Amino acid sequence: MTSHSAVESRRNDGIELSGKPSSRSTLAGLLSCCVALAALTSCGTTLPATTTAANATPKACAADAGWNDPATPLRVHGNTWYVGTCGISALLVTSPEGHILIDGATPQAGGQIVDNIRTLGFEPEDVRAIVFSHEHFDHTGGLADLQAATGAPVLARAPAVDTLKRGASDRSDPQFLVLESFPAVADVRTIADDEVVKVGPLALRAVPTPGHTAGGTSWTWRSCEGDDCRQMVYADSLTAISDDVYRYSDEAAHPGYVATFRDTLARVAALRCDILVTPHPSASRLWSRIGPAASEPLADTGACRAYAQKAAERLDKRLADEAAAPAGKATP
Ligand SMILES: [Zn+2]
Repeated sequence: MTSHSAVESRRNDGIELSGKPSSRSTLAGLLSCCVALAALTSCGTTLPATTTAANATPKACAADAGWNDPATPLRVHGNTWYVGTCGISALLVTSPEGHILIDGATPQAGGQIVDNIRTLGFEPEDVRAIVFSHEHFDHTGGLADLQAATGAPVLARAPAVDTLKRGASDRSDPQFLVLESFPAVADVRTIADDEVVKVGPLALRAVPTPGHTAGGTSWTWRSCEGDDCRQMVYADSLTAISDDVYRYSDEAAHPGYVATFRDTLARVAALRCDILVTPHPSASRLWSRIGPAASEPLADTGACRAYAQKAAERLDKRLADEAAAPAGKATP
């Protein structure tokens, strides 16, 4: 247990996290509405100066931005906000009763994410739960700092729990030999496959998507902008990529891994999916879809299917390469 006031209650249909209503929650909610209203000019004079920054013209992120390049935080849709760096995604899903943060980016990025949350007019202390995509340092590296800043537990599917607590992967990870370690996370709680994480009116479903890592998880929820409600999907990385030793086709070493990976690809392809965001923004062409350089529609109901299809082609190619190369000589 941390010193945070969050209480966790388990019900048949999910895990609910709540906290003492923060004196700031209402303000954050108001700010949320206010920021929503606006490209604005007239949001009122009572708002903190920081809110102004959220309304300033955001700096465009390059499609090939570095992992730690700072990004201007911005709205994705409704109560879903981009708070990551230009190169690695993090999302904040907000409500007047508390927020859920998705992903922590690199060990260097935790502070940027905290600043981005504040820039949007929200308080890090109102984050009630932190979830993530997959247990690699470029997505979990900032989680320890973010837990310290928010007091919120980090929720993980079982295969990722030990990696988070250690701050290091093991040989079950295809990329084990090339992965960097990251700051260990103190308060990790296990969630079930398809569990729904609830904070106030928020309900985010943990879609199990093992393959890129064993603990990989995609997230889906509904965000509304007035009557315009969209099914949001934060689809995990689905790339078949490894160090020089690992072979996906080695059924003796990890029985069923490829079949599980294929199930994941089918699951992502079948998701109801209006707006896709991925842990690496480039994988879903995010900076062509939001922000000042956007030139393509944000919503695309075929986006998850296309994303999974591309990953399936890559997995097929990888397995063909393994079949063509003697054991131990697989190309990553
Ligand atoms: Zn990864």
